[in-house]
Amino acid sequence: MNSKKRNRPSAGHKGTKKSGITQVIGQIKQVVSKKCRSWHIVLDPSEESPLNGECLTLYAHTTGKRVVCPCCGKPTSTVHSYRLRKIQCTEWLGHHTTLILKTRHMVCTNKDCGKKFFAEPLAMTHPYGRHTHEVEERIRHEALCQTARKASETLAMQHIQISASACIRVLRLLGRVNPEVRTSGFVGLDDFAKWKGHKYMCVIVDHYTREVLAVFDSRYGQEITDWLKSHPEIKVVTRDGSQSYASVISAASELIMQISDRFHLMQALKRDAVEPIKALLGQRKQNTAYPYPSEDEAYRYILGDICEMGDAKHRDRVKTYYEVRRLKDEGKTIAETARLLGIKSQKVYKALNMDTSKVLSTEQKLAMKAARDMARIINAGCITPSTVVKRLEGKVPSSIVHRCMRSLSERYKVLREEVRIHNKALGEQKKTISVRESTIWKYIVTGETTSKKLLKLHETHPEVEQVILTCINFRKMLHDEDDAPTMDEWLNEAGACPLKEIRGFAEYIRKDRKAVELACQTSFNNGLLEGTVNKAKAIKRSMFNRAKPEVLRAKMLYSGLKWGWNYHPN
Ligand SMILES: [Zn+2]
Repeated sequence: MNSKKRNRPSAGHKGTKKSGITQVIGQIKQVVSKKCRSWHIVLDPSEESPLNGECLTLYAHTTGKRVVCPCCGKPTSTVHSYRLRKIQCTEWLGHHTTLILKTRHMVCTNKDCGKKFFAEPLAMTHPYGRHTHEVEERIRHEALCQTARKASETLAMQHIQISASACIRVLRLLGRVNPEVRTSGFVGLDDFAKWKGHKYMCVIVDHYTREVLAVFDSRYGQEITDWLKSHPEIKVVTRDGSQSYASVISAASELIMQISDRFHLMQALKRDAVEPIKALLGQRKQNTAYPYPSEDEAYRYILGDICEMGDAKHRDRVKTYYEVRRLKDEGKTIAETARLLGIKSQKVYKALNMDTSKVLSTEQKLAMKAARDMARIINAGCITPSTVVKRLEGKVPSSIVHRCMRSLSERYKVLREEVRIHNKALGEQKKTISVRESTIWKYIVTGETTSKKLLKLHETHPEVEQVILTCINFRKMLHDEDDAPTMDEWLNEAGACPLKEIRGFAEYIRKDRKAVELACQTSFNNGLLEGTVNKAKAIKRSMFNRAKPEVLRAKMLYSGLKWGWNYHPN
């Protein structure tokens, strides 16, 4: 009895005793060899498979005699040489497994074929691939959902060794181009900043499947038009109020219905309507700029001052000289000039034939030469005489410059003082309670408010009534309410509005009329796009704002997909 029991082999040990690790290797080999059948390879039992720490290396070779040439399609069985390829597999029973695969390089026997040798294609990976398709799928899946560094760590826990930069490389390859997709015919389009104020990207989303269809590296341009052209099934495109998008879409096809976004339209109205109301309330805290004379004006003042230089007798002579000249230019005769100025005609004659150099003093001549330069400097924003002297770089003595700018300084001192008082008053106004922007906006679109200041505004500015009515009507029209006016009625009403900002807004609506009318009639809007853009920004920031457009495109297009989804071929 006892001896019989002893001879019976136990389930795991099959006759001879094996250590635990060898047992595991045996089991792994069993599982892998089953898998290998679908890959058309065979494990080599003779080869050793050492287990270095956690890593298990298996040896295998390809099966089948004849291989089809990828160039001409003719089968061949002539082997040129053998190569060993190292391919990383998924983990088996908690062990990181690497396959050393002996593959063949074949000779194409077809004389007309352009290829002489070729490597036999493998079912488990693509040409030059170092991972099986399954491992690649896992790398993509992890890299799409998190940062590359984190993905590398997560994959290491799955016994797949890959660096962070290799993860990025996988994504870059994936997002190189926009994939070929089918749309439902109803799409939206919006942009987001890649580098605020410098670079923008554009995204197109399907309204029904809610999937990101395409991501572009620019905001407007030919590539977007081309994409729209290549999808003739598209009937409706929603967008914000940008005219550039309008032209991009209509360049693709005139048949596409463009719908302007209601939220953006209301925002445009807010921008145009709140500021003027603020100004009417005296709330606009904008400093007035200090005035500067134009070049000609400054020149006139300087000339006047130059003539005033010197003693009384000299001044009189200069004045006569210029008056005589002026009257002569007007076409007066010598006798008439003499009578008008109350001097002898002989003196007039003398003045007419006199040379300018003899009339003006040395200082006046010097000032006359520099007058144009001075006027230019003053116009450029420099009204202090000492600074003008510096700018003239010592060409004219300081005293002469001061004398030339006397009347100009006096005139502008008064004007600048007014501005100074105004700006100072603005600074002090901050202490008074002002009406908030949101309160004004609510008043504009509903016509109701609890703010006493706003209610009082009607007494001083009766035109406010009409502005409010125009804005309320626009809101009603946009939301397609029962008592809403038609587009023509509203445009006429807004065109007659006393505020120029509202008239400008009406002009903008008139230009984009078709899209606005459709926005009033349909329920399409750009809300989905705003959400997508928000997601794009979150992805961008998770990569420290340094993602290349390809990586961003890959993450936006594929990160929402479930495990096992087929990626677009790259
Ligand atoms: Zn061939």
